[in-house]
Formats: sequence, C-alpha cells, structure tokens
Amino acid sequence: HSPNRINRLPSLHTNRMAGATDIKVQEVREITRIERIGAHSHIRGLGLDDALEARNVSQGMVGQTEARKAAGIIMEMIKEAKIAGRAVLIAGHPGTGKTAIAMGMAQALGTDTPFTSVAGSEIFSLEMSKTEALTQAFRRSIGVRIKEETEIIEGEVVEIQIDRPATGTGAKVGKLTLKTTEMETIYDLGQKMIESLTKEKVQAGDIITIDKATGKITKLGRSFTRARDYDAMGPQTKFVQCPEGELQKRKEVVHTVTLHEIDVINSRTQGFLALFSGKYTGFLALFSGDTGEIKGEVREQINAKVAEWREEGKSEIVPGVLFIDEVHMLDIECFSFLNRALESDLAPILIMATNRGITRIRGTQYQSPHGIPIDLLDRLLIISTNPYEEKEIKQILKIRCEEEDVEMSDDAMTVLTRIGMETSLRYAIQLITTASLVCRKRKGAEVDVDDIKRVYSLFLDESRSTQFLKEYQQEFMFNELGMDTMETT
Ligand code: ATP
Repeated sequence: HSPNRINRLPSLHTNRMAGATDIKVQEVREITRIERIGAHSHIRGLGLDDALEARNVSQGMVGQTEARKAAGIIMEMIKEAKIAGRAVLIAGHPGTGKTAIAMGMAQALGTDTPFTSVAGSEIFSLEMSKTEALTQAFRRSIGVRIKEETEIIEGEVVEIQIDRPATGTGAKVGKLTLKTTEMETIYDLGQKMIESLTKEKVQAGDIITIDKATGKITKLGRSFTRARDYDAMGPQTKFVQCPEGELQKRKEVVHTVTLHEIDVINSRTQGFLALFSGKYTGFLALFSGDTGEIKGEVREQINAKVAEWREEGKSEIVPGVLFIDEVHMLDIECFSFLNRALESDLAPILIMATNRGITRIRGTQYQSPHGIPIDLLDRLLIISTNPYEEKEIKQILKIRCEEEDVEMSDDAMTVLTRIGMETSLRYAIQLITTASLVCRKRKGAEVDVDDIKRVYSLFLDESRSTQFLKEYQQEFMFNELGMDTMETT
C-alpha cells in the first residue's frame, strides 16, 4: 500500500521527461471531420455474407464479386492479426472500383484497426526523404494496444489532513487515512487528489474509491458506522454498508495508439499543442506544422520498449493496413524499401492499387507488369478487377443518386447508364451532380433526359476532348501530337 505505487503502467499521460528508456504514450484522438460527400462515401463495407460470399448489391458495393470475395479473405487475415508483412495488389482498368474495394475494407475493419491511405505520389516531398515518408506511413498503420491494470481501492475515510506548505508555492499536500477491511492505510495526497476530494465533498465517514492509476477519488456514500452524521448531511445522503470482503477491484483499461503517434510524441518535447477536451477523458493533440523526420534511434528505443511491453503482457501489436493507391508512381528505391520493410515483424498488411499495364519502372529504363519490379511482384497476392456490365453501371449510378440526394427519372437513368458504358463510370458519376444543378435551375423536381443531354454537351468526356484536340491541334500551344501518348485503357 505504499503511496508510491500510485503510478501508471506503462507511463501513460505522464509528464516525465523523455529519458533514454522512458517512452511516452499519449492518447491522440482524431478530430471529428465534417462529413462531405466524397467519391467513395456510399461505400459502407465489402458487402459480404458470413460465408464471405459477395452479395451482388450490398453496403454500397455492386458487382466485382470475385475481387470483393478475395478482399474478404484478406480481411480475415488482417482480423486474425497473426500475419505481418503480407502484400496485396489490386490491379484493373481505371474506374473499376479498386479504391472503392480498399475503402470497403477500411470500413469493415472498424476504428480499432489502423488503416492508412496514401497515393504513390505523396511519398515525394521536399521535406522528407522517400524512405522516411514510407516509414511514417508504415508506422501509422501499426497499432499498439496498451493494457493497463489499475486497482480500485474502496474503503471508509477515517481522517483527511490537508496542509499548505510554508514554501508559499500555493500547492496543497496532505494525508488521507482510509479504512479497508484489511487495515488502515495512509495515503499521501497530491494536488490532483485534493481537487478530487474537494469536488466530491469527501469527509470522514464517507465510503470512497481510489483509482490507483489515476489517483481519482469517487464518493460512493456514507458508512453506517457514522450514522450520527446523517442529520447534518441532509436526506439525499446515501448510506452504504461499510464494505467487507474484497475491497480491491482490478480493472483493465485498453488504449490503442499507433507506432507513429508514439514516435511523434517522443521526438518532440515542444511544438505541439495539447488541448484538453471536455468530451474525452484523454487529450486531443493538435500537431502544429509537419512532423519532419524522426531519428532512427528514437524509433529503435520505441521498438525495444514496445517489445518489452509485449513480453510483459502489457501491450499487443495490432497490425493494420497501409493502402498505397497509384503504386506505379513509386520508384525503384521505394520498391526496394518495400521489399525490405515487409520483412519486419512490425509490418502492416500492404494493399496497393494500380491501373497500369506493362510499363516502365520509375527510376529505371526497364519495363515490368504494372511498373512494379518482378521481385516485389513475386511476393504479392494479386486481385484483379473487371470492367462493369451495363446493369452494374446502372446500379452504381442509382446508389450515387441516393447518396447525393438526387431524384432522377427512369429515362434519364437509362441515358446516363448508356453514357457510362460509352465513356466511363467516373464521367457518368460526375454528370449526376451537374445535371441536378441544371434541373434545380429550371426548378424541376427530378432530373430528366434533357438535363442529362445538356450537361453531356456542356462537359466533354475524355474521348470527345481528345477528338477536339485532334481537330484543333494547330490552335494550341506546345502541340506535340504524333509523339507517344499515354494509353490508360
Ligand atoms: P483508378 O484506376 O482510375 O484509380 P479505381 O479502380 O480506383 O480507378 P474507383 O475510384 O474505386 O476506381 O471507382 C470510381 C468510382 O466508382 C468511385 O466513386 C467508386 O466509389 C465507384 N465504384 C466503383 N466500383 C464500384 C462498385 N463495385 N460498387 C460501388 N461503387 C463503385
């Protein structure tokens, strides 16, 4: 019962300086984002049944059943959390739902599994090296679930002594004598405990609990043994039998933070603004400016500490998902980094997506399928997506109309579907919002065929735009027609 034992395992929320082995963990919560309708906001999951079969239309997902089923199997792998460092490539034509499938996986995993999404091009920045950017993305995708065991002591308050020390600091200290069934125990009171005592209006005779991890004091009521105080306290006072039997309750508190968050908190002692939020019990940390590069030795210390916590049973690793979209934008150095990083036991599941065929590997003169070196390709599980049929395009467009709150006549939907088949699904999706604006301007109740025709003529799709460029090539600057053009389809 030494008061020194009132500390937290492993040093959560402490203000201690970051020493060589004193790794700080701080709860970082994301600020609620303002929801807007995004490209994938209609996707709520992968739309699979319990047997991992893809329902044709479910959770905003339509068709692409083979790919969704394959993604479901990967999900099981992630949920079991036994395998680290597996990599998956989703390859297929533009607009065939590769990103949508990855987003569906993120939704289905829930908030406790870290899911990080980056585009290949985001890795290139002047502020940090490519490998640092990739390392940060990897570490954002690994969760550390920290278990804290805290003891709750329950007993009757015998005496409270609060002193104001002569040093003039204004801080109060004191002692609290608590009677449990075992014995009378004296606690040294810190400022926080005194505040808690005052707030709860604790006095001798009260039955209270002390959370040993936080020092928080909660008043439960008054003891029968002090019944004479009843009148003085008034009729609301609750009487509690002086507790007998087990007075110390063990409680487990679990926090999940990412390795990157632990890195950031330990690599900068100042420069971030920690806001206390009344809504949460923890802290909201708003990081001002960029994180910058994190020193290798900080990461090594953190890895060692996390490994130690794991061995002691205080924490477990939650391998999450890192999704790299447009992965063909990475260069040979990045690919070589990925090869190596996937071998670490602290690696997440890596999901990549590309719409490229056989193309040059960035940073080399060599061509390779999807622009990915063969040695990395060899490690990947590849999921392919296929072009959509007419009824699937129609269904996706209907779902998007619902998502955007747009009423559309059946005829207009048929025309829009045909446009989707002949141009692209993305182009057709874009026409929903524009047509609905045109409809609103004419004060119409639902989008009709004319609205669709109007926006179809106002906004060009890719092939009509190319056609236009070919016809009027002489009028444009830097005209290089005749050179190699990019083929994406
Ligand atoms: P790119 O190769 O060009 O990046 P992509 O394969 O990643 O394309 P998405 O961005 O996923 O394509 O799809 C384009 C749009 O169509 C998105 O708004 C997406 O949510 C929607 N979409 C695609 N496939 C489906 C599907 N099977 N079910 C529902 N919505 C879909």
